[in-house]
Amino acid sequence: MLRKPIIGIAGGIGSGKTFVARLFGELGCLVIEADALVREAYLDPVIRGTLREWWNDDLFLTDGSVDRTAIARKVFDDPEQRQRLERLLHPWVGARREAMQRDADVKTSAFVWDTPLLFETGLNKACDAVVFVDVPDSERLRRVVAQRGWNAEELHRREILQMPLDKKRRLSHYVVNNTAETADMSAARPGGTRRQVREIFFRIVAGLPDRPIRA
Ligand code: ATP
Repeated sequence: MLRKPIIGIAGGIGSGKTFVARLFGELGCLVIEADALVREAYLDPVIRGTLREWWNDDLFLTDGSVDRTAIARKVFDDPEQRQRLERLLHPWVGARREAMQRDADVKTSAFVWDTPLLFETGLNKACDAVVFVDVPDSERLRRVVAQRGWNAEELHRREILQMPLDKKRRLSHYVVNNTAETADMSAARPGGTRRQVREIFFRIVAGLPDRPIRA
């Protein structure tokens, strides 16, 4: 059986990676959201036991669930602790991803990895195509301010830990411009995100050569 293509999604914080990944999902791709897998990992008794061993009970909420906000705060300014956490979570998430792909429905046309740190973790190398979601910085800021209550400093603080966006854009095979408002996104609209995603999807599954697509 032919191996199904793996499509990685990259882009700045708040650019709409998850949104674009879901548009690929509408076209019959199996979308694997790393964030959801991390949430699952935190339910695993082995992971939970290890976290308790390292950091006592401080990072658990009263209902016994892992306090993800507290963990994020703990590792944010501490690269050593961050790497330790990544070494614990990444193999778990990787194994789960592989199992999902192995068990995928035969009708699945491609796998889509919505992973915040695709390039930083080297996962881009396992992708057949990487799609960069492009949105002007000012618009990304507007979205995270409106939807997450952040400010410019908060966005910058997170962004400087990541590979520069220009480099990610350069290393990607396709570029989707996701500036158009979601409310204005019929498949027919030229340049609309849904339309660009369809075009890229068909090129990838047809095995056509890369051609960066801009709106
Ligand atoms: P993160 O880097 O934090 O994981 P992300 O790149 O996955 O974010 P999303 O979560 O998909 O981004 O989108 C960020 C916010 O912007 C969401 O609230 C989403 O609904 C909104 N959004 C995404 N695309 C658009 C769009 N084209 N127009 C308006 N809002 C959008």
